[in-house]
Amino acid sequence: MSLSYNLDGFTLRYGSKVTMKDIEEFFGRERVLKALGLSRFKPERGVLRGGSEVLFSGEKYSYRVSVYESECRLEGREVLLPVREGHSDGERGTALPACYLPDVKELLVKELASLIIKLLPGLEEKTGLRASKVIITDAKSYWGNICPATRVMRINGKVAEKPEELIEFLLLHELIHIRYPDHGALFLKTLSRYAPDYKEKSRLLK
Ligand SMILES: [Zn+2]
Repeated sequence: MSLSYNLDGFTLRYGSKVTMKDIEEFFGRERVLKALGLSRFKPERGVLRGGSEVLFSGEKYSYRVSVYESECRLEGREVLLPVREGHSDGERGTALPACYLPDVKELLVKELASLIIKLLPGLEEKTGLRASKVIITDAKSYWGNICPATRVMRINGKVAEKPEELIEFLLLHELIHIRYPDHGALFLKTLSRYAPDYKEKSRLLK
């Protein structure tokens, strides 16, 4: 048997009958077998093709499902995911398979939490307005809100997919609501003082 690899996948050429056991020995790794969908493999003469990695791109992060990964992790702007049962080469180019979504969400929410911890103190310093607590939620109806009395801020976890400057703008917007609960003239005047491009940023957060 001969095996050639590149980023798009692999080609395995074999001249005689091979068994599942031969393939397992050849690849050595169980998750490679899963990636190839070899449970459906019929040992016969020919060429077998498959993928070792599948890429999906999101607004801010890209997702790489790879036979080389054993756990879900984040590396810069790339989310690395192990191959899972039921995921196949045929899914290339479509949306990230649903079985990955809970893990991806957990990773991105963690990332969002550390970004908020990094950005909020500077904004509180600048505006003199402080949140008592920030809760990351799963809301469908808002990006963020704040209760002016308790100063508890709620941020929708899905904002993790937005660029950092928009997340910072959202935090600023919510802080200013501590002083001005509605979107009236005083609110907008204060917002524009810290974010002169607030109209554009508000539009991008629609
Ligand atoms: Zn608002």
